[in-house]
Amino acid sequence: MKNAIIRTAANVRALTGVECDEAWVVVADGGEPTLYTDFRYIPMAHRVAPKLKVRDIKHFGPDLARLWGGKGASSRKIGFEKAISVAEFEKLKKFLPRAKFEDVTRDLAKRRSVKTPGEIEKMRAAVRLNDEIWRDASRKFKSGMTEREMAGIIRSMMFDRGEGEAFPTIVCVGANAAECHHVPDDTVWNGRDPVLVDMGVKLDGYCSDMTRNLLPRRPSSLYRKVYDLVLKANLAAIAAVKPGITGKALDKVARDVIRKGGFGKCFGHSLGHGVGLEVHEAPNASKKSDWILKPGMFVTIEPGIYLEGNLGVRIEDLVLVTATGCEVLTASGKYSARTEKMV
Ligand code: ZN
Ligand code: ZN
Repeated sequence: MKNAIIRTAANVRALTGVECDEAWVVVADGGEPTLYTDFRYIPMAHRVAPKLKVRDIKHFGPDLARLWGGKGASSRKIGFEKAISVAEFEKLKKFLPRAKFEDVTRDLAKRRSVKTPGEIEKMRAAVRLNDEIWRDASRKFKSGMTEREMAGIIRSMMFDRGEGEAFPTIVCVGANAAECHHVPDDTVWNGRDPVLVDMGVKLDGYCSDMTRNLLPRRPSSLYRKVYDLVLKANLAAIAAVKPGITGKALDKVARDVIRKGGFGKCFGHSLGHGVGLEVHEAPNASKKSDWILKPGMFVTIEPGIYLEGNLGVRIEDLVLVTATGCEVLTASGKYSARTEKMV
């Protein structure tokens, strides 16, 4: 990346170490980045990244014009992220009317997709903490509690022990689990129905992501069948993770298991996604993903089956791609509904 102007918070953090949603980062001639932010964030940036060049945002436009507005302006390519707003893009064009802007979103995603050893340690710590919170929070779940109360228990532990939620915690009682991204409401748990929880704590800037299910006290034969099929798809995909496999080939492994089991139409989302500074980042494992897995990448393995108005099961683990396969970082147990044992 020779010349680029970066705006989104996760890429600002990846390039500078500073977490700030009101900043621009400028990289010129492949050199060290410069952070532009306002009065409110400058002392924090100085403290977090003492070696980083930080400039008041009032210099942003004039600096850009001086850097790239003069000689050679019309032949120079400036990288930007397509995710910025139209208003922000208009602003860049006003400062650099002759520049050619090119989208570098994928380049940035690629750089972040393979984690450094330091990042891997932070990811491990986030996943470990998430497992601990699931263990401690689920023990506090009692019949008579609402989904909102159960989500609240998880959320408060995440703020006490980590940096809060990586995304809004999902708690689904019974048939609500058929909604993949159900918002916890006043549905009361009777202590017998299944509960699906999708949760991820943020720690040291890095996210975790996991889905577990409290099995019903007396699972119906349909629930057993669906649960074990999802588990089979989860385990088959984990076994297939290795360097060189594409996101779509990995997705297909799980999708084939579910299709052969007769529930192909009930698995409407992708198998998984990368995780890091953001809970959803590269590489994704979907039907169309041409991302190639490499050692040091993280990906979730989260097949699901959803029967509207009836039940839903998703089992999600976070794995680290290694030189020979993968390491499953999520340590929380997964029950087999068929054998009623941990697998
Ligand atoms: Zn999740
Ligand atoms: Zn996920």
